Amino acid sequence: MKDSPVSSTVDFEKEGIQHGFLKLPHSHDDSAWGSIIIPITVAKNGVGPTILFTGANHGDEYEGPVALFDLANEINPKELSGRVIIIPGMNYPAFQAGKRNSPIDGGNMNRVFPGDPEGNFTQKIADYFTRTLLPLADYVVDFHSGGKTMEFLPFCAAHILEDKKQQSLCIAAMKAFNAPHSVMLLEIDAANMYDTAAENMGKVFISTELGGGGSTTAYTVGIAKKGIRNILRHSGIIKGDMEVDETLNLDMPDDSCYVFSETSGLVEHCVDLGEEVKAGQIVAKIHNLERTGSPSKEYFAGIDGIYTGRHFPGLIAAGDFLGVISVPI
Ligand code: ZN
Repeated sequence: MKDSPVSSTVDFEKEGIQHGFLKLPHSHDDSAWGSIIIPITVAKNGVGPTILFTGANHGDEYEGPVALFDLANEINPKELSGRVIIIPGMNYPAFQAGKRNSPIDGGNMNRVFPGDPEGNFTQKIADYFTRTLLPLADYVVDFHSGGKTMEFLPFCAAHILEDKKQQSLCIAAMKAFNAPHSVMLLEIDAANMYDTAAENMGKVFISTELGGGGSTTAYTVGIAKKGIRNILRHSGIIKGDMEVDETLNLDMPDDSCYVFSETSGLVEHCVDLGEEVKAGQIVAKIHNLERTGSPSKEYFAGIDGIYTGRHFPGLIAAGDFLGVISVPI
């Protein structure tokens, strides 16, 4: 396969801390010989595992970037046994534009893995992760949130994996992260996700959904920061006691946990995040925008559980995600 067009200004084997860039040539109207430069920090000390932290895999999800820019400022390589790689803005063009997907090529970073060194910009960045960064890592932590179109109960997630030993290591990492909710996440379509690429390489992989709506709160950023400290301790990269608060363990057993809208219109949420729901209970109504006197369309829970995530904007289109329910374990 062709070499990656991405180069790095940091040396992944060097001891100490380096702040630099991943550089991907991008020739465009405003900069003929320009580049996309993606901020990266590498901190290394002695022998130990490597952890790879990423934020803004989707560019409008902010807890990860906030906590990771902060980590890059605070981290002291002398306190480490191992290596920490920090990339707060993984899909950097999307992050810079405040959008889920790249404004250059429309690329959704979490749908293009394993990537392509000869593909579009998003695919080239993904390929660099697949062939250069993931092989360096033992632990991979990818921060997501609801972005502009969804909101979630703050949770850390692991997946059901064929390799049960790997699955138990991922679950242990999820528990160590110690978000208020720990979810065995059922993806709508796991193909071409960063998650799947990392898991297929045998990595200990966890992700998060921490809030949403295209912004952050002090509470959700605090969860991200505590999770980072805990996973660094759990992996043995830093020393210290785990910070343990109560977590609710949740499962998404099958597709019946998801509710999708089949109508467009105005959303009336009938339950709030964190509420208990019963199968058959109305979770939302969609009102017709175009006329009065037209009955609203009702949407129902398919399963008993906790309302875990929902559509964020006030208006919705047919086919949109409306809500998701997960089941306490
Ligand atoms: Zn995301």
